[in-house]
This record gives sequence, C-alpha cells and structure tokens, in this order.
Amino acid sequence: HAQRLQGLGTTIFAEMSALAVRTNSVNLGQGFPDTDGPDSLLEAAIAAIRAGANQYPPGRGIPALRQAIVDHQQRFYGLSYEPDTEVLVTTGATEAIAASLLAYVEPGDEVIALEPYYDSYAACIAMAGGHRVPVTLRAPDFRLDLDELRAAVSSKSKVLLINSPHNPTGTVLDDTELRGIASIAVEHDLVVITDEVYEHLVFDGLQHHPLTAYDGMAERTVSIGSAGKTFSVTGWKIGWVTGSPSVVTAVNTAKQFLTYVSGAPFQPAVAGALALGNEYFDSLRTTMQAKRDLLCDGLASLGFGVHRPQGTYFVTTDVRPLGYTDGVDFCRMLPEKTGVVAIPHQVFYDNVEAGRPLVRWAFCKQTHVLEEALSRLTKL
Ligand code: PMP
Ligand code: GLN
Repeated sequence: HAQRLQGLGTTIFAEMSALAVRTNSVNLGQGFPDTDGPDSLLEAAIAAIRAGANQYPPGRGIPALRQAIVDHQQRFYGLSYEPDTEVLVTTGATEAIAASLLAYVEPGDEVIALEPYYDSYAACIAMAGGHRVPVTLRAPDFRLDLDELRAAVSSKSKVLLINSPHNPTGTVLDDTELRGIASIAVEHDLVVITDEVYEHLVFDGLQHHPLTAYDGMAERTVSIGSAGKTFSVTGWKIGWVTGSPSVVTAVNTAKQFLTYVSGAPFQPAVAGALALGNEYFDSLRTTMQAKRDLLCDGLASLGFGVHRPQGTYFVTTDVRPLGYTDGVDFCRMLPEKTGVVAIPHQVFYDNVEAGRPLVRWAFCKQTHVLEEALSRLTKL
C-alpha cells in the first residue's frame, strides 16, 4: 500500500467492538447509543423511501435539509446562513472532516489539532499529506493552554482543527479559550476546522459556543455538525458543513469526488428532526446527564479516578488508583476478566505519556446496561 497509509492500521473502535462481540461483553467502548432516535424521525425516513427518495439527491443536499440546518443555526446560536451557498450536506461528520482537510491542506502543511484527537483526524491529515502538530489537553481538567497553542504555530501552519465538546475528554471550550483560538487564527491567517458534533450534549447548564461566531472567524471557519449524535442515528451518516460560500465551495469540490451525494431518504427525515421542539433537545441533554452521573459515580465508587465530562457521551478515568499503569494493557485485559469493553486514550496521542493511564467509557447506553457494566466491573 501507499506510504500515506503507513501506520494507520485498524481503527481502535472496530477492534474493540469486535472484541466486545467475541467476549460477549458490555460495550462501553465505541460511542453509539443502544436505543434509536425519535419515532417521527424513523418514520419520516421510511416514508421517504416509500415515496421514492431513492436516487441521487442534489450534491449539496436537498433544499429542505439545507434550510433546516440554516434554521437550526439561527435558532440555537443566532447565526445566519444562506442555504444555497453556505451549507453542504455530507456523509457524516467523518466525510466533512476528510473533505475539509483535503480542501485546505497542501503536502507538507502543518495541521494543529487538540490531543487526544478523534482518530479520523490523524488518518485524514496523513492522507492529505499534512503533518499533525498536537496541542495536549492534560488531566485533570483537560483545559486548552493558549500559550501552548501559540507555541505550536509555525510558518508551515495552515489549519487549526478544533473539537468542542471534545471527544474523548468531554471538555467544552469556554469563552476565553474560544476567543484565544480566534485571535491566534486571525493573527496567523489560519483556516479553522471546528468539529461540533456534540453541540447538544453539554451538561450542568454550560453552553456550547460556535467558534465561527468570534471576531474574524466567519470567513476562515469550516463548521461541522452531524445528525448521528443529536438524533441517535449514528448509522445514518448525515452530517453537514456550514461556512462562507468560498469555504463551502472548497469543501464541496472534494466532497463531490468522495461520495458525490449523501443518503437520500435520510435527508428529509433529518430536516424534520432539526425542527423538533426545544423539549427534544432538553430531554436528550438531561437524560444523558443522568447517565453520565450514574456511570461516573459508579466508576468512582469502584476506585477509578473519574474526570467527569462537561459534554459528549464519554467519561475519562485514570486506572492508576486501581493499581494499573497502562490503559492499553487495562483495556486488553478488561473484557476477559470482567465482560466490559472500554477504549484506551493512548491511541489518540502523539505524546503517549499524557494518555497512558487514561481510559474512556461511553455512557450513551440504557440505564440497565450501565448498571450491568458496573456490576461486572466489581470483578476487577
Ligand atoms: N467527530 C467526533 C469528535 C466524533 O466523536 C464522531 C463520531 N464518532 C465523528 C466526528 C463522526 O461523526 P459521524 O458519525 O457523523 O461521521
Ligand atoms: N465517535 C464514536 C466514538 O468516538 C464512534 C467512532 C467510530 O466508530 N468511528 O466512539
């Protein structure tokens, strides 16, 4: 295979989900809900198939979905977009990330990414011929150190790749951090790709702030969202990009030759879901916060060091209080010993030491499943 695939191996999520099936384990590894999204959403996709929405839709997405994305950005953040030129529907956020990096990264360019990073970032930066420059979010608080970010910028920097709410740490970047990112991006004329797929999973009364709303950002920001997390349909792979007309044109230039278009019958369904009342979004958040607390409290009482997340559906723990030192060894041992699967942080770092003792658990599961996992973990 080509050099660009060097070291990419198999994604940790596929590896650990296969291990979960093989060992009949409770899978708190890969982040996907074990219940479906709202009925109205599911029925709308079925109806769309029956109504014949089964051929190539428009490349940028069906007009109803582009309008619904615009309305959603206006309703939650007061942001205005033009549906014909400033919105692009993609095959999940994953394609949006890949197409954005292909659109902006020249071979040899540096891409600064928050570490631990979502695994597709590293792979797509490499496939685009770029070099990854990590800025580490460190335990216990996993805050962004703006001095470290500033120090990571060089004459080769092209793109800042930001993710908030952040997988896997659960950090929700605050106003000071976002303002700092914006000022560095403007000063060094960087493109900012911001992955905000967990925008509706923010807890304890905190707010998600879109990076594009900061001064000087609108023209340089590629904002990425997804239906997968917000509507519990991770298998549908409907995501989107919003940005200036030139941003959307650039990303679409790559997107059109990756997948051409994205899932026709899912698009009208997601358009309807984005217009659901506030009670849907509120209940998603409060239900998930209760699951967070159940799993965090349970893991703490088992002796883990628990880093309670501000957002996402993942909690990070430190395994050292239980006498283990290495998260990869811990996660390889765990299914056989207890019948539970989790994900080691280490695979999401260049600076492996910062993630060595950290393990991520997904809490987007039914209460009885989380309880079963906690009960199995008493075998540790
Ligand atoms: N970004 C982050 C941070 C994620 O956690 C995920 C989901 N695993 C994605 C992107 C991919 O989203 P999608 O399923 O819409 O491709
Ligand atoms: N985003 C989910 C996670 O972080 C699933 C990722 C995947 O399977 N590619 O677990």
